[in-house]
Amino acid sequence: MAGYRITESYEDLRKQVRAFAAEIVRPLVPIMERDREVRHDLAKAIARQGWTSATVDPEYEGLGLGHYAKTVILEELARENGAAAAIAQAGIIPTGALVHFGTDEQKNTWLPAIAAGDCLPAIDVTEPGTGGDVLAMRSRGERVDERTYVLNGRKVCVGNSHVATLHLVVVRTAEGSGGLTAFLVEADRPGISCPAHVPFLGLNGFSCGEVALTDCRVPVANRVGEEGDGLLVAHAASILYGRPNLAALSLGLQQAAWEGVAERVKDERLRVHQTIQQRIGDIHRRLITSRVVLYDAVNRLDNGLACDEELIAAKLEVVKAAETTTREALNVHGAREGLFVDHPAERRFRDAHCIEFPAGTSDFQRYRLSLEALGRRNRPLSERFATPRQRAEVPA
Ligand SMILES: Cc1cc2nc3c(=O)[nH]c(=O)nc-3n(C[C@H](O)[C@H](O)[C@H](O)COP(=O)(O)OP(=O)(O)OC[C@H]3O[C@@H](n4cnc5c(N)ncnc54)[C@H](O)[C@@H]3O)c2cc1C
Repeated sequence: MAGYRITESYEDLRKQVRAFAAEIVRPLVPIMERDREVRHDLAKAIARQGWTSATVDPEYEGLGLGHYAKTVILEELARENGAAAAIAQAGIIPTGALVHFGTDEQKNTWLPAIAAGDCLPAIDVTEPGTGGDVLAMRSRGERVDERTYVLNGRKVCVGNSHVATLHLVVVRTAEGSGGLTAFLVEADRPGISCPAHVPFLGLNGFSCGEVALTDCRVPVANRVGEEGDGLLVAHAASILYGRPNLAALSLGLQQAAWEGVAERVKDERLRVHQTIQQRIGDIHRRLITSRVVLYDAVNRLDNGLACDEELIAAKLEVVKAAETTTREALNVHGAREGLFVDHPAERRFRDAHCIEFPAGTSDFQRYRLSLEALGRRNRPLSERFATPRQRAEVPA
């Protein structure tokens, strides 16, 4: 049954990721914060770890560790740096979609390449005029002959936009809710391009940018699922992978924020204040409840239990907690430390806010939960697509 569990093997995995983060990510953080440019080297280093394939079966050379282990990986990366974790999570979402919707040929071609770090994928759904409302998208795919589609349109806020070697693009091939279709588009295929990278509020080093499709010819063999499956592909990827991934990032940021606060309040002059003690109590409470809510949800997923609502609630809860905790941490650090751009507390505060948007804003999560609560349910995607698995084995 589902439940929050800590095992030695997960803790070993945690140590492995922590060591990578300290050795490879940490030295890059000041440079990423200063330059605000896309870090291709970091994306490659993360891809090479194989973590993007954490939930991919060993049959396709994936790690086969499951969602719980994947959560440990993302939490630990985010504890060090939000951008590093964002790179990994943005690759995990389309990988998950390929696992559930790809043809044998697509899986045999791409999943081993992802596992080896030779391919880092992105999922391209959002458009200038549509975020949460996926059905409002305007990018189009037109079948021009027996073997070819031509794609045209503009995607924005695509995670890993500038570092991905493969894009899972969802476009409109017909009108209505059954009119979206997903395609694999290799980044070097003529007709797909990325305009100059524009940094935003946080997650410096991560590319979350625009992808343009201009008469991009794509073979029918690159279609993922059937024509009309695009909405399901996008929703399943977002619920089963996006929501828990982003909650894991928010958990890692909270953990790091707490550690920063703990260090700061070693100063006796601060600890004596009741207001500081109250804040510490709240930060600790949010960290504990976030951990329980998230790990319980992914454990359910690993066990093949219906848990769409738990995954949505986990995203809502943990993201909100991270936003509050990183803001409170700034207060505890005080202006002398917290407000300066080279202090990690300030970076975490910005990063935590960026995580509110992907896989749907908190408003959108509440809306989705209200639909579930009011009984407007379809068969849960978690039940439909999750592979039951018992305790995942983590390699030494
Ligand atoms: C760090 C980051 C990574 C991202 N990664 C990807 C990616 O890999 N691929 C991709 O395709 N996109 C990605 N996105 C885009 C992301 O999915 C969108 O930002 C998200 O869907 C919300 O869309 P929006 O920002 O356009 O807001 P909108 O959906 O336009 O919402 C605007 C406002 O209306 C509110 N609102 C909208 N709908 C509802 C509703 N039904 N109920 C209540 N309130 C509502 C929102 O809360 C918000 O306040 C990423 C974004 C960020 C910031």
